[in-house]
Amino acid sequence: MSINQCGLDKQALMWFRQDLRLTDNQAFTAACDWVRQHHATKLKAIYIATPSQWRRHDIAPIQLDFIQRHVNLLAQGLASLGVEFELIQLDSFKDIPAFLTGYCEEHSIGRVFAGREPEINEQKRDQACIEAGIPLVLSDEHCLLPPGTVLNLSGDMYRVFTPFSRKWREVAAKQPIVPLGVPAPLGPILSEPKPLFFKNIGFADSPANKGIAPSETGLNQTISTPLISSEQWAAGEGQAKRLLNQFIQQKVQDYKQDRDFPAIDGTSVISPYLAIGVLSPRQCVAALLQRFPEVMVDDTSPGRTWLNELIWREFYRHLLVAFPDLSKGHNFNRQADHVPWRNNRDEFLAWCEGKTGYPIVDAAMRQLNQTGWMHNRLRMVVASFLTKHLLIDWRWGERYFRQHLIDGDLAANNGGWQWSAGCGCDAQPYFRIFNPMSQSEKFDPDGRFIRKYLPELASWGVKRLHQPNQQKMPSLFEAPLFASQADYPYAIVEHNAARARALTVLGVLKKA
Ligand SMILES: Cc1cc2nc3c(=O)[nH]c(=O)nc-3n(C[C@H](O)[C@H](O)[C@H](O)COP(=O)(O)OP(=O)(O)OC[C@H]3O[C@@H](n4cnc5c(N)ncnc54)[C@H](O)[C@@H]3O)c2cc1C
Repeated sequence: MSINQCGLDKQALMWFRQDLRLTDNQAFTAACDWVRQHHATKLKAIYIATPSQWRRHDIAPIQLDFIQRHVNLLAQGLASLGVEFELIQLDSFKDIPAFLTGYCEEHSIGRVFAGREPEINEQKRDQACIEAGIPLVLSDEHCLLPPGTVLNLSGDMYRVFTPFSRKWREVAAKQPIVPLGVPAPLGPILSEPKPLFFKNIGFADSPANKGIAPSETGLNQTISTPLISSEQWAAGEGQAKRLLNQFIQQKVQDYKQDRDFPAIDGTSVISPYLAIGVLSPRQCVAALLQRFPEVMVDDTSPGRTWLNELIWREFYRHLLVAFPDLSKGHNFNRQADHVPWRNNRDEFLAWCEGKTGYPIVDAAMRQLNQTGWMHNRLRMVVASFLTKHLLIDWRWGERYFRQHLIDGDLAANNGGWQWSAGCGCDAQPYFRIFNPMSQSEKFDPDGRFIRKYLPELASWGVKRLHQPNQQKMPSLFEAPLFASQADYPYAIVEHNAARARALTVLGVLKKA
């Protein structure tokens, strides 16, 4: 008997994925409404753990720990609304359609509610569920404006950010932007749920991804621990909302001048919460509109710069849906298929470990390795250094970021890496090569950020902190890796020569 023929239709199922919140959750609200309208007896809720899929997607252990903590908080929140929650343990996405078919039959489920996800494997998984007859209803909430609703006059996705953002604001300005509240309880409070743990999380056998063999990158060893604690990041919807509100009340008006300085607490730091859906983009835009109601229409609004960053997030998600090959690691600009990347493994490892001899690059990488997060200006600096100074394929860096970021997000990460490498949609031109020394002088003028993450350089004067460690520098490109002076390595490349080399090698992008 198929699900739709069973006639019992007594229950609905809420399937939480990258939307781990109860507030402003369209899918969850729709599920609760459906239960009330259909006098159904119950709403059940699940989260499906898929460890081998996660390994294939290179999810960072710290992000998984953050997800696990939020799944537990979700279970508690749902219990207080009278909704029973179950953590389901499968292996990969391919197991889901069969599991859900059985689950729906067993529990007489008439509708399954979930939020849509833009990544290709997630879309294929949902399509397979629908083809298996699962009554899946998807809502679009990973963006404020769903992919496909911000198009140019020919009805296509924009390939340049500025007109996209203009159109995005035009469309958004016509809509009421009001977050949904937490739905009313559906029944009496349930007993306190037991702690839930993801099982079989082992990252030692992370398979090759995006055509890069793990043996080439040596990345396997870097994520051999089961889960890395995310405790330094406070969990919960309340915490995410507090961070957002604090930022909007106290910092957003200075964001334009502060956002590029990693030693200043000038950005919102909400990305870990947005990435797993503890916070929705609508909550962010609504909070901004409350303080600056003119922000959509007035270019001079003090909230405009931050709004633009939220629109970049939407731009990259829309691109991922319009160009599904991006999820598979393809260059947006196919001319980049001809770049002869050097892919020197030792230099890559020096970059990963923060041992390039360029203090700003190394401090940034250590921030990532120690906290699971990196300031945006530094993401641009280290990505440029890897792809242009070292001529290492951007996919190696993208993958390392994904394996270490608590805010890992395929669309933003892919977009940021391809932008930095010069092969993305509306990317930084290949000939714009960040000078790590002037970036350092400009954005960490007193060296406060560098000293925080490179305490071994505490006694260095400011001037020296911005320079690569190039005393006794050997001939070009032959600097010994990890040779140290005062416990700090010599520069692995010399800036001017690396710049000249990058201009020649990346010149193939000129033809695009
Ligand atoms: C190479 C590279 C890789 C990146 N990888 C990721 C990633 O995996 N996950 C991720 O969330 N962001 C990524 N970013 C974008 C950006 O660096 C982070 O979103 C930002 O640093 C998060 O800090 P915040 O929350 O304080 O941001 P804020 O400056 O306060 O901005 C608010 C929100 O807007 C979004 N946002 C801001 N800048 C961007 C941007 N350039 N592109 C897309 N969305 C943006 C984020 O959701 C962010 O939380 C990457 C950027 C680069 C250059």
